[in-house]
Amino acid sequence: MEQVGICGSDVHYWTHGRIGDFIVKAPMVLGHEASAVVSKLGPDVTTLKVGDRVAIEPGVPCRTCHFCKSGRYNLCPDMKFCATPPYHGNLARYYVHAADFCFKLPDHVSFEEGALLEPLSVGVHATNRAGVGLGNTVLVCGAGPIGLVNILTAKAKGASFVCVTDIDETRLNKAKEIGADFVVRVANSDPSKVAEEIETVMGTKPDITIECSGAAKSIQTAIYATRSGGVVVLVGLGQDIVEVPVVNAGVREVDIRGIFRYVNCYPTALAMVASGKVNVKPLITHRFKLEESVKAFEAAKRGEGIKIMIECSRS
Ligand code: NAD
Ligand code: ZN
Repeated sequence: MEQVGICGSDVHYWTHGRIGDFIVKAPMVLGHEASAVVSKLGPDVTTLKVGDRVAIEPGVPCRTCHFCKSGRYNLCPDMKFCATPPYHGNLARYYVHAADFCFKLPDHVSFEEGALLEPLSVGVHATNRAGVGLGNTVLVCGAGPIGLVNILTAKAKGASFVCVTDIDETRLNKAKEIGADFVVRVANSDPSKVAEEIETVMGTKPDITIECSGAAKSIQTAIYATRSGGVVVLVGLGQDIVEVPVVNAGVREVDIRGIFRYVNCYPTALAMVASGKVNVKPLITHRFKLEESVKAFEAAKRGEGIKIMIECSRS
């Protein structure tokens, strides 16, 4: 293994031992945002060779169920996903993975960028599901790593203006640094008032809103803020049950769509990074060695920075 990024879910398993129905019942290796060098091949592998630098798509589905066969393998009920119990993650020196979920990195794409293809793929999938296209106005709620990759992918897909909300000024500054056109610091506790502020700042209601905080109030704001006939994509996962203004969404034909991870997005994410159309490097704020993993997780738990990377190679 080379580089592994820490995700909020890794920290959650580490501190709480569960996410919803996924419960850690035995010691589990964390990590799922990863890149590596192939050190050994299974007998039937023909697509890779020893020494290849790869990004690892962490979820391997069954390949035979209805969802897999219809091209929506992210919905496969038999998914084996790194660091989702009971499956080990890949924050380790060595790790075994299916060859068809390893993506060869061109020489000029770094291992850090390779690892960041994982969160970037969430942005690729969310903006696909949202249907972001040329000239769309887009609102991204929440400027954590997932909000930030959605800014990058929305801009790359031709969004004219992207507005970003957060309650945290530092996160909004990062959003501006990577290309947000407008930012709104959420201070008002009334979601419809926040939606009005967003419309004032953008000069229009957004065609598409990508909710990346999971906060109940922000989900409500997302619906109020979106233009009639528009789309709200729910990326953020917070409380199980959230009260939302359904009548407002219903009578204005605002479509509400969910997303789960990504499907067939790694090749797109890699192409965007390799071509220079998307720059994920500014997301990285901290670097640690594998031996310092506990320190790295403590920093992540304190909410420091954006993306914390752990180097797993001995060199
Ligand atoms: P994060 O916690 O780093 O970022 C969330 C951001 O939302 C923070 O910056 C926070 O300040 C901000 N926020 C909180 N309340 C807000 C409000 N009322 N209005 C606006 N912003 C607010 O998390 P992340 O790693 O960026 O992930 C974001 C969410 O996406 C999480 O809920 C995570 O579980 C979810 N997620 C979902 C998928 C999926 O497949 N659907 C994949 C990855 C992550
Ligand atoms: Zn399947």
